[in-house]
Amino acid sequence: MTERSSDDRLSLVADNIKRINENIQTALLKAGRTDKVRLMGVTKTVDPEIVSFSVKNGVTLLGENRVQEFLDKRERYEGDPEVHFIGGLQTNKVKYIIDKVKMIHSADSEKLIREIDHRAKNAGLTMDILIEVNIGGEESKSGIAPEMLDELAYMSAELGNVRVRGLMAIPPVNVDGSSAVYFDRMFRLYSDLRDKTAGDERFSVDTLSMGMSGDYEEAIMHGSNIVRIGSVLYGYRNYAK
Ligand SMILES: *Cc1c(COP(=O)(O)O)cnc(C)c1O
Repeated sequence: MTERSSDDRLSLVADNIKRINENIQTALLKAGRTDKVRLMGVTKTVDPEIVSFSVKNGVTLLGENRVQEFLDKRERYEGDPEVHFIGGLQTNKVKYIIDKVKMIHSADSEKLIREIDHRAKNAGLTMDILIEVNIGGEESKSGIAPEMLDELAYMSAELGNVRVRGLMAIPPVNVDGSSAVYFDRMFRLYSDLRDKTAGDERFSVDTLSMGMSGDYEEAIMHGSNIVRIGSVLYGYRNYAK
């Protein structure tokens, strides 16, 4: 790949943001939706300067995958973005991020959720969580089995310092090249949980986090309201400096 000047790279990112926002609006219209979708910039391996540029250009929600990389980079983020943790999270790392992120999308076990609750309590806060569902039943993927969802959600509700806000998934691609069937299943799980917890003060279910660079428009067709986008927003990863 040829090297690009920093200005070229920034103008590419600006173009990408504009195009993605247009695509989001088109998908919302097509789906007949009148609610909103939040665009999350997924920052893994992206230079903090480029991340800051995207924040200035309206990507005010960031998704972080790796604890150490986040801790190294966060001081250099400008513009006061809202940060969510979206990557696999070991229980022994929760303490490093608990007061630095607003939501954790990758809550996928009782042990992890109990640790989040414990650390949130120590920090004097309530942490918003999304329960990650392994909707394709793939052995290699994280997330809980759909059958476990109710149990884990109500267990979480009993704790004082986590609040279940919804669900997250990284669905597989089906043989027909689409993830529609999984997005649809996720939407049903999400709406069931939302409906059955409506009016229950321990819950505040309003977030369905699904859709990435290759499939965010389809995810929006199926009710996603946070799309997590890395490569088509920031360009190629690990480009030459
Ligand atoms: C990397 C990553 C994304 C973004 O992936 P792209 O295909 O680059 O948009 C979204 N969610 C999670 C959990 C990720 O790790």
